[in-house]
Amino acid sequence: MATNYDAIVVGGGHNGLVSALYLARDGWNVLVLERNAELGGAIRSGEATLPGFVHDLYSMNQNLFLASPVYQDLKDELSEEGLRFVRSEKTLLQRVS
Ligand SMILES: Cc1cc2nc3c(=O)[nH]c(=O)nc-3n(C[C@H](O)[C@H](O)[C@H](O)COP(=O)(O)OP(=O)(O)OC[C@H]3O[C@@H](n4cnc5c(N)ncnc54)[C@H](O)[C@@H]3O)c2cc1C
Repeated sequence: MATNYDAIVVGGGHNGLVSALYLARDGWNVLVLERNAELGGAIRSGEATLPGFVHDLYSMNQNLFLASPVYQDLKDELSEEGLRFVRSEKTLLQRVS
């Protein structure tokens, strides 16, 4: 493991991860320090009810991210890493009616 870094990012939420990614793309040697066992901060997902059912644990409305310049720039790399958005077939209005 390297011990010299050009940048150290404290916190592995999405803002820290995006910052680290752009620095690394430019050739910086970056260390991300995350105090939790999992990366993702408040946009993490996980099994909160039944096994196999994955929920947003905190933040749940990520629609604006899909239209962001960052997502447009990174979507191919993120897709290769396994990121995918699951869209519900039903809207809130359909559920209520
Ligand atoms: C309950 C809830 C619901 C939300 N709903 C929405 C929503 O629907 N739509 C939306 O757009 N936004 C929502 N948000 C806001 C959104 O989640 C945050 O704006 C976003 O997560 C901020 O990202 P971040 O990377 O800046 O910080 P965070 O996601 O908070 O990540 C910070 C990371 O830094 C780590 N950290 C902190 N201090 C240290 C330290 N000293 N050493 C090491 N690691 C450290 C933390 O463990 C964490 O992983 C919600 C937030 C919450 C809490």
